[in-house]
Amino acid sequence: IPQHYSAVPGVLQDKVILVTGAGDGIGRTAAMTFAQYGATVILLGKTTNKLTAVYDEIVAAGYPEPAIVPLDLKGATKKHYQDMAATIQAEFGRLDGLLHNAGLLGVLTPFEHIDLPTWQDIMQVNVTAPMLMTQALLPVLKQSAHPSVVFTSSGVGRKGRAFWGPYAISKFATEGLMQILADELDQTSLRVNCINPGATRTSMRAKAYPGEDAQKLKTPADLMWLYLYLMSDDSIGVTGQSLDAQPK
Ligand code: NDP
Repeated sequence: IPQHYSAVPGVLQDKVILVTGAGDGIGRTAAMTFAQYGATVILLGKTTNKLTAVYDEIVAAGYPEPAIVPLDLKGATKKHYQDMAATIQAEFGRLDGLLHNAGLLGVLTPFEHIDLPTWQDIMQVNVTAPMLMTQALLPVLKQSAHPSVVFTSSGVGRKGRAFWGPYAISKFATEGLMQILADELDQTSLRVNCINPGATRTSMRAKAYPGEDAQKLKTPADLMWLYLYLMSDDSIGVTGQSLDAQPK
């Protein structure tokens, strides 16, 4: 994997890429960046006005017109994902990229105090939703010549850390999901990988580290080399990997 991948303009030309959590943080920047490099992006998120703001910014910049899918992953059912897959099939005929970026942190808490509703919400948004969405979208992904699915992990999804309970456990599950899917699809052109963004200047990070000087953190834009790499045909053949957007 090239450590300092530099995408050429238009590298995502004619690609259709769905980004979850596209209204804010890393997902917002990823959606803008994919559009900048030529992709038609499908903006999925919970808060509609955040999605329309990203839509407006993409259109104003003269990038390909995006689509908007307002959806709360907490309550979404199999039917929602199946309908979404049917709409994508009808509108675009295929899906080239799927970035599972939306995530829920919850609150950091000692293990003894993990409460079930919080646990269930985090598992729903971070694990169950990406699983169901991927399952429903596999047929449209397979219409693409070189489809790429990217999950979002975390440092605490590889090594546990005190008080990170449900969030960290959900990220371990994300790594497992990615590995199992990649292994099953090993003989196909569909590649599946994880990105660990590393400490990044977003509202989620500020919630986890309230006392920190955010100006010292990397911004979502600093990570985009890896997102572009995994979504572009330059990463054909790379699968089953968990990669750091801020390598040491
Ligand atoms: P933010 O909290 O800034 O953004 C999260 C995005 O996910 C928002 O757009 C939010 O939508 C969306 N989202 C949350 N819950 C739902 C839901 N129920 N349904 C639909 N969309 C939802 O987080 P980051 O940008 O920081 O994080 C992006 C990813 O990167 C996450 O998976 C996170 O775990 C991971 N990560 C982040 C790190 C960091 O330092 N920032 C470090 C390691 C991993 P809305 O705004 O509408 O609520």
